[in-house]
Amino acid sequence: MTYEQKLALEDIIAHSKDDIVFFGGAGVSTESGIPDFRSENGLYNQKWKYKPEFMLSHTFFKNHTTEFFDFYRQIMIPKDVKPNAAHEKLAELEQKGKLSAVVTQNIDGLHQAAGSIVVHELHGSIHRNYCTKCGKQYPIEAITETTGVPHCECGGIIRPDVVLYEESLSQDTMLNAECAISTANVLIVGGTSLSVYPAARLVGAFRGTHLIIMNNDVTAFDSYATMIIRGKIGENLDMLKVR
Ligand code: NAD
Repeated sequence: MTYEQKLALEDIIAHSKDDIVFFGGAGVSTESGIPDFRSENGLYNQKWKYKPEFMLSHTFFKNHTTEFFDFYRQIMIPKDVKPNAAHEKLAELEQKGKLSAVVTQNIDGLHQAAGSIVVHELHGSIHRNYCTKCGKQYPIEAITETTGVPHCECGGIIRPDVVLYEESLSQDTMLNAECAISTANVLIVGGTSLSVYPAARLVGAFRGTHLIIMNNDVTAFDSYATMIIRGKIGENLDMLKVR
C-alpha cells in the first residue's frame, strides 16, 4: 500500500458511517497460517492423491467418507490458529460504527474469534456440525476428538456444516450478504481470487461509491475497482488509523 493509498483509505473510512462492507476469502487467513487455495503455496499447488476440489466434493464425501474425513481433519481444521491483524481491524471497524458486515467465503471462524458480530459465512463453518440423519447439532470437537467417520448417537454420520463442491449455498445467507453489499457505500474486497461462484457474483450487487480491492494477485474484478491495494492484507489494514 502506498502512503497516498493509506491516506485515501483513512479518509474514506473517516467519512463512513456504518456503510462499509468487507467481502473476503482465504487470503484473509493466510497471515494466521492457514493456506489458501490458489496462491503459490496454496492447496491446489500441493501434491494430493486426488484433486482437492474432488476431495471437497459431495461425491467424495458420499463415496469415500473415511478419506474425506482424513483430508478434512488434516487440511480444513487448522491447529492453534489465531485471528491476525486483518480480522482484528475489521472487528475494530465494526465496533467503531464504520463497518456493517463481513461477508466471508472462509469457514475458519476467525472473524468471530476477533470480535466481529455481523458475519455472513457463505460457505458455512467448521465450528458447526450436524447429524445427517437426525439433524442434531455438534461442536467442532465431534470431528477433532474422533477418528474415522464421526457418528451421532442415533447412528447417523456427523458432517461439517460447510458447503462442499456440488452443494448449494444457503439462500438465506446469500440474500443477507447481497442485501449488505447492495446497500453499502464502500465495499472492500480482500484476500480472494474472486473465482469461486456463486460467491464472487455478489460483488456485482455493489452499487456504492468505492470498490476497494486488497489482494496480492490480480482478480477478475480489478477493472471495476476504484482503488487496488497489493501486498499483505493484514499488514496493510494494520497500518490504518481509524478516526
Ligand atoms: P483463493 O485461494 O482462490 O484466493 C486467495 C487470494 O488471496 C489469492 O488471489 C491470493 O493472491 C490472495 N492472498 C493470499 N494471501 C493474501 C494476503 N495475506 N494478503 C492479500 N492477498 C492474499 O481463495 P478464495 O477466493 O477465498 O476461494 C477459495 C475457496 O476456498 C473459498 O470458498 C474459501 O473460503 C475456501 N478456503 C477457505 C479457507 C479458510 O477458511 N481459511 C482456506 C482455504 C480455502
